[in-house]
Amino acid sequence: MLNGKVAVVTGGTRGIGFEIVRKYLANGAKVVLFGSRQETVEKALEKLKAENSSWEVEGKFPKLTDAAEVERAVMEVKEKFGRIDILVNNAGISQSTPLYNYTAEEFDKVIDLNVKAVFYAILPAAKIMKEQGGGCIINTSSMVSISGQPAGVGYPASKFAVNGLTISLARELGKDNIRVNAVAPGVTKTDMVAALPEATVQAISSKIPLGRAGEPEEVADAFLYLASDLASYVTGEILSVDGASKA
Ligand code: NAD
Repeated sequence: MLNGKVAVVTGGTRGIGFEIVRKYLANGAKVVLFGSRQETVEKALEKLKAENSSWEVEGKFPKLTDAAEVERAVMEVKEKFGRIDILVNNAGISQSTPLYNYTAEEFDKVIDLNVKAVFYAILPAAKIMKEQGGGCIINTSSMVSISGQPAGVGYPASKFAVNGLTISLARELGKDNIRVNAVAPGVTKTDMVAALPEATVQAISSKIPLGRAGEPEEVADAFLYLASDLASYVTGEILSVDGASKA
């Protein structure tokens, strides 16, 4: 479905991002994954190469909250592969701190990675896509961007912002043949969820109409669809993959 395409996936070392990378590779794309540390990037590359040694995959670890570092890393991908067809902004952190325990620093941390870093990656990538005649950007939102959440307000605030970026840039960049969409996962079985208190996960899962949390592979399928030509007329969409959690 992605033969010959070049993709950049941030936060591609584990969880949902790792499954996106696997799925893109299995569907013929060349992928550069961005992780936070050399060690985790190398581990992820090793795992992928062990699965299929012919997959064309590389890794980088720019500081995603540093606009200049991100620009440099994106430009290096373009220099090496000649183009960037797909940018997936997946790296993110969550928070569940009650308001009265919040600090400004904690709030800044979630906004810096979940919102500003998304913008920093889009800036150089969109210019490359415009020059080459088109491309596709997929951001990672969350079901909390629709429902909010009862604590850790920085996290839903960041994902509402991701939706705003997505819908607005779809309108702005359509003329350049750049599609901009987001995937809004519900509770998905990754380290991010493992970090939440067990009672919180239980409470959320028990209310999911499909009766279970999602698998990272199921969420990655939505990223595959949106990156593929099957979604050639889909842009400005926030695609929920949440078992109807927010309904
Ligand atoms: P995860 O914690 O398993 O993985 C997060 C990824 O982001 C990792 O690859 C990590 O290296 C990267 N990352 C974290 N901090 C970073 C930093 N400072 N710099 C660079 N990279 C950094 O989480 P996940 O569940 O796979 O989440 C992926 C995305 O999906 C996030 O944007 C998250 O908000 C979103 N999401 C997850 C769920 C869920 O239930 N798991 C639900 C809704 C949305």
